[in-house]
Amino acid sequence: MTLAVHIVGAGPAGCATALSLQKSAKELEQDISISLIMPNEKGLPAIGETIPPAASERLNELGLAHLLNDGHLECPGSISIWGNEEPGYNDLFFTPVGKGYHLDRNYFNSQMLEACRLSGIELLSESKVVDVTMEKSNCVLTLNNNGQSRAVHSDFVVDASGIQASIARKLGTARNEYDSVISLCAFYDAPKLNHARAHTLVSTAKNGWWYATRLPTGQVLVSMCTDVQTLKQEILDNPNNWFNQFKKSGWFYQTCKEHFQSDFIPPKQLHTRVAPSAILSNCIGKQWLAVGDAASSYDSMTSAGITKALDHGLYAGKAIANILIKNCKNELKEYQQRIFDDFNQYLKLHQQLYMAEKRYPDSSFWQRRMLG
Ligand SMILES: Cc1cc2nc3c(=O)[nH]c(=O)nc-3n(C[C@H](O)[C@H](O)[C@H](O)COP(=O)(O)OP(=O)(O)OC[C@H]3O[C@@H](n4cnc5c(N)ncnc54)[C@H](O)[C@@H]3O)c2cc1C
Repeated sequence: MTLAVHIVGAGPAGCATALSLQKSAKELEQDISISLIMPNEKGLPAIGETIPPAASERLNELGLAHLLNDGHLECPGSISIWGNEEPGYNDLFFTPVGKGYHLDRNYFNSQMLEACRLSGIELLSESKVVDVTMEKSNCVLTLNNNGQSRAVHSDFVVDASGIQASIARKLGTARNEYDSVISLCAFYDAPKLNHARAHTLVSTAKNGWWYATRLPTGQVLVSMCTDVQTLKQEILDNPNNWFNQFKKSGWFYQTCKEHFQSDFIPPKQLHTRVAPSAILSNCIGKQWLAVGDAASSYDSMTSAGITKALDHGLYAGKAIANILIKNCKNELKEYQQRIFDDFNQYLKLHQQLYMAEKRYPDSSFWQRRMLG
């Protein structure tokens, strides 16, 4: 009988898990029917776009390195003001493996999906999982497709639903949040951009930190990262207030103008995204596991979310094949240990970075982060 695995969410983590599982199942000469379940997200700009060379390596392992040759922009690194007035350069050109990129994120997501489709993975589009129940020998997912409900039976379910962790939460698993920043993002057209400079610019400010990055679409993304308390206090989701802070950001505003040669004006619209530092208390169960942001999510300052999604997806796919086909009982525990270990490493980095900025002792944003 063919085993059925359903993957809830078709972001980088869901797609990487699907491809890795399929490869492992082929190597073990076992048929597994793999389905990716995804809601309709047309029209929503996907945010989260810079990848380091390590992500290229993970794509290579998935047989997808060629995706970066088309429609994306090489990223030479970042220039940042963090902790002192001197701009610091983080160059990606000198790493021995691969290159960094600014992704066209919507296009990248669609490339990953297409790679899954071409390798025979079923795509259940316009479908959202609204319920899950675990039965003795399988899981039952309730799918909502344009108002129509239907049940699907699965031998193993993967929660790759991003920070919502839809499946894990429905199964009663707690999610521990250590911190959460909110990004208020504006897209600017930059028709005069030349190809010489594509560094990401980063700078701290009293109410949080800024980043600006060039996109392959000919736009520039400018983002203010703050927290919910500061956002409410300063009404930063008002485009005029946001823009006033941008103009007051000194080096950051001036360097954005020079690098991106855009006429910065108050944006018509701000896109809000949450980037929590959070982890599930339990990333595995008898017939399920969580992967990517559903399992653990990092602050956007690390630019590590996509790499982690690919890396953990590769691991998750192999682990599922080993447990379903070879009945290797320890596989899931080892997988979970890896997620926990990586998250502990990340927390140290988070603390180091926020502790390094001591120039705003009166700012409640920085005070909250100093508490660790
Ligand atoms: C402001 C910001 C900037 C960032 N910048 C970067 C960056 O520069 N570099 C980087 O590497 N990372 C960055 N990240 C993080 C990165 O975007 C994420 O870590 C990455 O997208 C995680 O991939 P994922 O597949 O786990 O989740 P997602 O990409 O979130 O995909 C999850 C999918 O699951 C779907 N889903 C949810 N619930 C259900 C359901 N019930 N049924 C079916 N489907 C469901 C969602 O619709 C979504 O499509 C940033 C994040 C933010 C917020």
